[in-house]
Amino acid sequence: MIQHLINIQKNIQEIKSIIPKNVVLVAVSKFQSIEKIMQAYNAGHRDFGENYVQELSEKYEQLPKDIRWHFIGHLQSNKIKYIAPFIHLIHGVDSFKLLQEINKQAVKNNRIISCLLQIHIAKEETKFGLSFDEAEKILMSDELKKLNNIKILGLMGMATNTDDTEQIKKEFLSLKQFFDKMKQIIQNENVAMQILSMGMSNDYNIAIDCGSNMIRIGTSIFGERPKK
Ligand SMILES: *Cc1c(COP(=O)(O)O)cnc(C)c1O
Repeated sequence: MIQHLINIQKNIQEIKSIIPKNVVLVAVSKFQSIEKIMQAYNAGHRDFGENYVQELSEKYEQLPKDIRWHFIGHLQSNKIKYIAPFIHLIHGVDSFKLLQEINKQAVKNNRIISCLLQIHIAKEETKFGLSFDEAEKILMSDELKKLNNIKILGLMGMATNTDDTEQIKKEFLSLKQFFDKMKQIIQNENVAMQILSMGMSNDYNIAIDCGSNMIRIGTSIFGERPKK
C-alpha cells in the first residue's frame, strides 16, 4: 500500500456519509503516527481508539486534550492507572476483577469511567471476551452495585475473521439479541445499556445492519497499519 496516497480526511468523510447518524465512528489509530492522527483531528474527528497502554499514554500527552480516547485492546489490571485520568471509554472489559480495578483507579481520580463488556462471539479461540452467561452474571450481580465509579454503557464484540458473511451476521445478531435482553432486564444504577460496539473495516456494514451503534475503523481510514 502506498501510504502517501491515502487521504484520511476523505476516507472519514466517506464513511460518515454512508453510516446512520446514530452510529459513532471510532478511528482506530494504533501504530499510526501523530501526524496522521492530526490529519483526522483537523478534519473534525475526535473519537480515536488505541490498543496499547503505553502507546496511548504517549499519544495522549502529545495530542489535543479534547480527543475522546477509546481503549479497545486487552487491558491489564496493573496498567489501568496510566489511562484512568483521561480515558473516555474502555471497550474490552472481560472480567469482574478488572471492573473492580477500574473502579479503584476511577475513585483515585475522582471520576466515573465508562466501560463496555467484551463478549466472545467469534469462532476463533484467540479472541478475548466473556460468554453470554458470564456477562449476564456480572450484570446481574449485587457486587456490581457497589462499584459506583464505573458505568457499564454496553457491549463490544468482534466477529470471526472470515469471508462468510452469513457467519459474521449470525455472530453480530447474537450479540444484538443479548444486548436487547440485558437492556430489558438489568436494574442497576451502574449499568445503562446504550452502546453496542461492533464492526471493523471489513464488516462494519454488516454490523450496522445488525444493530451496531459504534464502529471501530482503522485500515479503511488510515490505510494498512505500519508493522511494529
Ligand atoms: C485494530 C482493531 C480494530 C480496527 O481494525 P481495522 O480492520 O483496521 O478496521 C478494531 N477493533 C479492535 C478491537 C482492534 O484491535
